[in-house]
Formats: sequence, structure tokens, C-alpha cells
Amino acid sequence: MKIFAVSLGCPKNGIDTEVAIASIKKAFHSIEIVPDPQKAQIILINTCGFIQSAVSESIETILTLAKNKKKSQKIVVIGCMVERYPVAELIKELPEVDLFLGTNIYESVGREIKQNLFSHSLDIIDSSTDSQERFFNSVTPLWRAYIKISEGCSNTCSYCLIPKLRGRQNSISPEKILSEIKELQKNNVKEITLVAQDLTAYQYNNINIEGLLEKIVQNSNISWIRLLYLHPQRLSRELINIIKNNRNICPYFDIPIQHASNKILRLMARRYKQENLRELFAHIRDVLPEASIRTTVITGFPGETLDDFEILKEFISEIGFDHLGAFTYSDEEEAPACNLKDKVPEKVALQRKKDIIRIQKSISKKRLKRWKDKTVDVLIEGISQESELLYYGRTMHQAPDIDGVVYLSGEIKKLGEIIPVRINDTHIYDMAGETEQKF
Ligand code: SF4
Repeated sequence: MKIFAVSLGCPKNGIDTEVAIASIKKAFHSIEIVPDPQKAQIILINTCGFIQSAVSESIETILTLAKNKKKSQKIVVIGCMVERYPVAELIKELPEVDLFLGTNIYESVGREIKQNLFSHSLDIIDSSTDSQERFFNSVTPLWRAYIKISEGCSNTCSYCLIPKLRGRQNSISPEKILSEIKELQKNNVKEITLVAQDLTAYQYNNINIEGLLEKIVQNSNISWIRLLYLHPQRLSRELINIIKNNRNICPYFDIPIQHASNKILRLMARRYKQENLRELFAHIRDVLPEASIRTTVITGFPGETLDDFEILKEFISEIGFDHLGAFTYSDEEEAPACNLKDKVPEKVALQRKKDIIRIQKSISKKRLKRWKDKTVDVLIEGISQESELLYYGRTMHQAPDIDGVVYLSGEIKKLGEIIPVRINDTHIYDMAGETEQKF
């Protein structure tokens, strides 16, 4: 069975796509991932739906792929967008799609497709064809992978639909997580990134995130272990120490603050204050001076005044984040924040986002300078689009897909290797260097 797969949204969605592909393999016994949708029998689209712009991107992707759809092809749409809207409405609006499936079905996508699209109605296909496995690296390069440690979220941030789309927090067993890591280690994967909606809320029986991380370190020898989505309210000193004491855990803290005005943090229901954030970041910088800190902020949240925005700007300048993502508030009907008053005009929210990005550019440039003339380990990821002689890769301080890269000169024949690189130049987001050894 030839499959063309698209995975929209966050890395967690990428993992779900790999589980869905593995279940199709189980149901149809053999599959081939094809890069050209024209060559596919099944076009699988895993959607994102947590904000309007993500919904628009999902619909656009579906319509683009449906434009050249052949009679023999089946379009299957799964994921958060399907979870958000009634299927009857989706069928009416998107008649090109042959099957819609929500978010809690990834293991049985294969069975559903076979049952609904490729079988005579009398055939009953039992759940034994469901698959708990993943079709590893069908969404990421061979040398790196995301590991989901829990599904859903039990926090109640007032602007967020994820608890509605993905349900309450549900942690995955350490045994399942370790067996995935073992599988990836066998495939010589160099970097694993642990993801969840809120990594710090992990709890499986009496094992919390600190316990899980210790188990991973003790039972694997993956070169790089990265953590994304650390909620500032729960990030413990113990976890910071575990990161400090283990060289293969990236000294990289992804801590979404969303804002710094206590009034706005309260309206967002984030359950921490600016002073807590200041203390947390000071502690990290004290314990791990070289650590990199990433954050995300939202501009234009209902009730955000010019003063609140000034507070946010000052806080960003004070802390000096290595990486920062800025987003404008998205007014989602089903989210509690939609009922708040004093909405900020979109134009103003957008201008504030631009102001934050401008401030962050000079901070990022200043922060990167500390790597100049230093030798750092770089995971080689590919050939630069600018020149065949130029490769690119990332350090432990640069996360995949969201941060800058290191451009390399020198003869490199093997992608997916971690090699020492001397940094000889730094820019706003990227760095340049040359290999210390020839391959
Ligand atoms: S922590 Fe808040 S923003 Fe993040 S997924 Fe949970 S509810 Fe949404």
C-alpha cells in the first residue's frame, strides 16, 4: 500500500502520524511511504486545530492535495481539527475527504481505513490489527526522534483548547518509553527529544519526570536527550540538577512563559507570577551558566494594556532568552478567554509581536556571541540550500525545527554524525564554523 503522509502542527502530532502509519502497515501487511502524492493510494493528513490559523492551514493542505486526486485514491484526515468540529459538518464542507478520524484512534487508523474504504461491508476486522508501534523516522530524519511521554493536559490555561482536543493528562508507562528509546538506539539515533503538553506534569504511579529522566539516563546511551515544554510552575530544582549532572542531557530549557505581567498571567490562568519566573531563571543561570533558555510569549491577550506590554518587554530584556517565539493571541470560541472583555485589536497585537521580535533579535545576537572561537559538538543534519559546499547542523543549544543552525564548511560525508566544530562567526540566530576533523 503506497502512502503519502503529511503531519501538521507540533512534534507530538508527528509521533501520532508515525503510530498511524505503523497501524496501516499492520492492517495492510506492507506499505511504502511515497514522496509524491500522485503515486499514493492513501493520502494521510494529520491535522492541527488548536488555533484558527492552524485550522486554515489544515484545510488548505487538504484542498491542495485533493485538487489532483485520482478516483483510485483515498484521502484520510485525522487529528485535532477533526476532534474540534462535528464530522457531519466536515463531510459537508470537505466532500473530497473519504474518511475523518479524531485524536484517540492513531493505533487503529489502519483498521478503520481497511474497514471503511477497502473492504466489503460484511468483512469484520478485529482490533488485533491495531498497532501500538511507531513507523519510526517517517516524519523525522534517521538520526533524531521525538518521544511522547504523556498525552493531553490537565492545566487550564484560559486561551488553550488542547485539553478539549486531547483530553486530560495521561502519562505513558516508563517501560513503553524505554522500549521506544531502545528501538531508536538500535537504529543508531543520536538525539531524542522528550515531548508532552506539559513535560513537568509527568506522573506514572510513583514515577515523576525526575524519576523518568533518571531511568532514561541509566538505561540508554543516546548521545543527546532534549526536553521540550517545561511548565515554569512545576520545573523543580531537582530536575535542573539532573540536567546539570548528566552530560548527554542538553543544557537547554524550553520554558513557555506566555507573558510577564502578573495581571495577564492571572487572566491566562498560568498559576505563576513574574517574581517566580525571575527566581527560576536566576537559579538556572546560577547552576548552569552555559545553559540555553527558550520561551514563547503571546501578545494582544484580552486586557493587555500598554503598561502590561511594557512589563513584558522589560522582562524579556532583563532575562535575555537565547531563543524566543512570539505569537499573537487567537480568540478561540470554545476557550474561556474568549469571554474576557477589553479585546486588543489584531493590528495592535501584531505590532506588539513585531516589537518583541525586534527586541529579541539583538538579545539573540548578543547571546550567540559567547560561542565564538569555541569548539562545540554539532549534529550534522544536511546540505545547505545556499551552497553544496556548506552543510548545516545543530548544537545541544539549538532545538530541531524551531531554533537557528550552524553552517559548516569542510569535507563532511556523513549526515547524522556529531562532530566537533570550531565556531568562527555568530549572527542573529545562526552560527558558522568549520570542522576540526575531516571525514
Ligand atoms: S499547559 Fe496550558 S497552554 Fe499548554 S497545553 Fe496545557 S492548557 Fe494548553
